[in-house]
Formats: sequence, C-alpha cells, structure tokens
Amino acid sequence: MRSMICILFATMIATFLHVSIEVFAQLGANSACDRIRFVTRQAWGAVEPTAAVYQARQAASRVFVHQAWDGQTCNDVDSCIVRVRSIQAYNQQQKGWPDIGYNFLIAGNGGVFEGLGWMKQGFHTLNYNDESLGVAFIGTFHDSAPNARMEQAFRDLIECSVARGYLVANHAIHGHRDARCTICPGDALYARLRTFPRFQPGPLPRYSCPSSGLTSGALNQHQAAPIAIFGNISSSALHNNHRSQIIFNVTASIAPKQ
Ligand SMILES: [Zn+2]
Repeated sequence: MRSMICILFATMIATFLHVSIEVFAQLGANSACDRIRFVTRQAWGAVEPTAAVYQARQAASRVFVHQAWDGQTCNDVDSCIVRVRSIQAYNQQQKGWPDIGYNFLIAGNGGVFEGLGWMKQGFHTLNYNDESLGVAFIGTFHDSAPNARMEQAFRDLIECSVARGYLVANHAIHGHRDARCTICPGDALYARLRTFPRFQPGPLPRYSCPSSGLTSGALNQHQAAPIAIFGNISSSALHNNHRSQIIFNVTASIAPKQ
C-alpha cells in the first residue's frame, strides 16, 4: 500500500513538473526575440572586417528591405552558410566594403543571420545607412515572395529590435527601391512589404540614382554575388539559439557607403 502511495505521489510530482516546464517554455516563446533563431557571425564563419565599421549613433528609425543573391533562397543550414559567406566575400572583395553590407539576413528556413548586427552603420542604402537597419532576404524575389517562415522571421526581427531599443517604435519600413533606382527587393517581396502597417513608399527625400551607365543588370545591385565554395562547414553550432554577438572593432574611420 505504501509503495502504491509513493508511486501515485511520484506520478503527481512528475506531471506537475512536466506541465510547469511546458508552461514556462510557452511563456518564453511569446517573446519575439526568443522566437528568432539567430545565427551569429561566429557560427557562420564570418571573416573579420577589412576596416572599422561605424557605430550607429542612435536607434534606427527606418528599415530597408533588400534581396540578396541571384536565384533561389537557401533552406538548410549548410547551404545558407555558404551563401552568407559568399555575400560577405562579394561585398568585401568586389564592392570594396569593410564587411557584409546588411545588418541582418533572413534565410529560407527562417533563420536570421547576423550581418553587421544592431547599432552598426551598414552599406546597403546610399544616403540612409546611418539611420536604418538593412535586412536582406536571401534569394531573388521578383516573381515569388519569400516563404511564410522568412516573413515571420522578419516580423519577429522588427519586433525584437524595437523591444531591445535598437529600432524606434514609430519606424518606417521601406524597400531599397524607395531610396534608390533599383529593382531591389524584387516586385513580389515589395508587394508583401506594402501589407505592413509601418510601410512607407518612396521616393524618399534623399532618393539617388547613378547619372549614367545604367543597364537592367546594374539596376539590381544585389544580383551578382558569385558562388564561392568554402568547404565542409560544421552546422552543429547553429542548432543552438545563440544571441547576437558584436565581435568586431567599432573605432571610427572613413568607411565607404555603397
Ligand atoms: Zn537592395
């Protein structure tokens, strides 16, 4: 009889603990920041910036959305890492920027890759880099919009950025084309942006356009990132829910903008 009572009591305790843990997990998942699956620079194997990157002076007031990569998005960790590393290499070696141009990049599996991270001036939208976050959806989105996981990751990133004080609550969301004569971020993605309450269409006051030499290819400034092979990259570290890490020098120096 005594053993029966012990078993019953133990079962009740176990049930209580199990329920408690589930409730706790659900409460944690209610935070946008907790929902984001961040992939840190360290996790994707970012190389060091070639020159210092400006620290942002204040919270961003705008978000510019871009498409990055010529072709389909990536849907598994290893191929996403290859693409993000290729984008960084392209930005540094072909564009001559100190680092990857975007603050964050969103992968097809809903992962959020740390580019420059928060509170850094990017190299994504001429005349607006010092007051905005640049978020690139990995892929090309002229004909088809990003999948639901990518869009949810973007919404969570916006909400998390506001919650942490890196983006003002009354921010504006734009496509790159609102500030530049480019087709970026693609018609289909741009159509999705129009559904966001904080979307603000262009042309913005400091809209810019190169004066000559425009071709249809040149209009899409993010289409030409070349594929680079970086060998076998372990993905084990990426399955942890890392927080964003700022790992590079922020000493001021003149940094090129786009
Ligand atoms: Zn762009």
